[in-house]
Amino acid sequence: MDDTLTPDAAALPVLPHPGGDAVLPAPAAWDDPALPRLVLEDPATGLPRAVLPLARGAEVETAIRRARAAIGTGDPLAILARLTGAIEARREDFARAISQDMGSPIDFARSKQVDAACDHLRATLAAARDVPAATEIAPGGHEVAHEPLGVAALITPWNWPLNQVALKVGGALAAGCAMILKPSERSTGAALIFAECMAAAGAPPGLFTVLAGDGETGRLLAAHPGIDIVSFTGSTAVGQRIAAAAGANLVPALLELGGKSANLLFGDCDLPLAVKQGVAHCFRNSGQSCNAASRMLVTRDLYDRAVRLAAAEAAEWQMGPPDRPGPHLGPLVSQAQYDRVQAHIATALAEGARLVAGGPGRAPGLGAGWYPRPTVFADVTPAMRLFHEEVFGPVLAITPFDTEAEAVALANEGGYGLAGYVQTADPARQRRLAARLRVGMVQINGRSRAEGAPFGGVGRSGYGREAGIWGIRAFQSVKSVSGLDPL
Ligand code: NAD
Repeated sequence: MDDTLTPDAAALPVLPHPGGDAVLPAPAAWDDPALPRLVLEDPATGLPRAVLPLARGAEVETAIRRARAAIGTGDPLAILARLTGAIEARREDFARAISQDMGSPIDFARSKQVDAACDHLRATLAAARDVPAATEIAPGGHEVAHEPLGVAALITPWNWPLNQVALKVGGALAAGCAMILKPSERSTGAALIFAECMAAAGAPPGLFTVLAGDGETGRLLAAHPGIDIVSFTGSTAVGQRIAAAAGANLVPALLELGGKSANLLFGDCDLPLAVKQGVAHCFRNSGQSCNAASRMLVTRDLYDRAVRLAAAEAAEWQMGPPDRPGPHLGPLVSQAQYDRVQAHIATALAEGARLVAGGPGRAPGLGAGWYPRPTVFADVTPAMRLFHEEVFGPVLAITPFDTEAEAVALANEGGYGLAGYVQTADPARQRRLAARLRVGMVQINGRSRAEGAPFGGVGRSGYGREAGIWGIRAFQSVKSVSGLDPL
């Protein structure tokens, strides 16, 4: 039995198993008290609510054996086409599971978490249908075949529990791979429903398996020589371990890691709109997004006004329980995450950042759940940890700049390179910034990336791309064939 299972927790219910062979541990073993288990806490109350059985070596072996046997079975694009409908039919189940697991406000879970996943799957299907067939003709008349790598290990975080799964499964499925998903232990509910959706979409046995488990489960999976590619989304520290494990087996790793993305506000932007959108882009999902615009860099001329506007805007954002309808921010996922956010706030204060909204401690009136106060710091300098480190909570850092060159240098500091946001009406500056920001994605004046455009970063934010044709090709190998005689 796992150390995390305290005597009190032994009375907790086991998270419901959706049934079926697509989830391991298998239904028959799910309630077995001999399995290691993890206590899940309710983000809204901080209280234990259920236990999660954890897959170990035996389940990893079973999943890989089944997946290897399933490579090449089924019609991937037909399954993908049916999958979106299957997810939409379970929209409310997904929204409730996500809301309960990670504290996402129920309306946000419905409208953003579920819709984003369906949009990604539709875009992946469109990309798969649009591109030339699996075989292309290269210079010299050679044939180039794009072939599935084989068995894909998909390891996901808790912050967008369906979206991250959909991005990986869409690409891997369209590529022709068999898939083993190890979702975050903090948000397994959505993955269990997803397994049912894959079955409803006609996935043959073994083509898609969910391994319920924790970091140890993920470690066993990623290091197994029966895996042909590891696609990981999560923290930079774990990403480094996964890259080492995949490297030891000489298989590719695709890493979507953390971020500390900068939002650059120039003198010719619509300042009130840019600040409003910028604060929202930092606070949305309670700051628990890898591409959160968590640093706002503002031209000196507009700086004082921008700080005042951001402080006023932050005061508009209320925390609230996940089941309360309407727009608000939900609790953070766990005590560990809450403590981490509090530590960042304390360090920023100790290092001399100027607090203009929120601050340490719990948001008032919400009891014992993991509710921080939406917080804004001004005068944050590169000498401070808040400038460089990912908080993963609703904490915005504002910094002034004097020249465009300084803005670019500040944005590129720190080693992360996921996204860059630019607010300027000058088309020439837009292009200069797009070229000079060392990131995987640049967004100008709040215009979102289209679904199917590549998602991913550089540097400490990882490598590889998800979504659209890039997300499909990531799961394929390229075979060059020369000398074929005409049929
Ligand atoms: P995490 O790295 O702790 O865990 C992610 C997943 O890896 C979980 O499923 C976990 O069980 C598993 N894991 C943990 N240790 C492992 C190991 N040694 N080997 C294999 N698997 C292991 O991350 P998290 O706390 O769940 O998520 C938050 C992080 O994810 C943040 O840093 C955030 O920026 C990042 N993130 C990045 C993106 C992106 O696309 N770039 C998207 C969402 C989240």
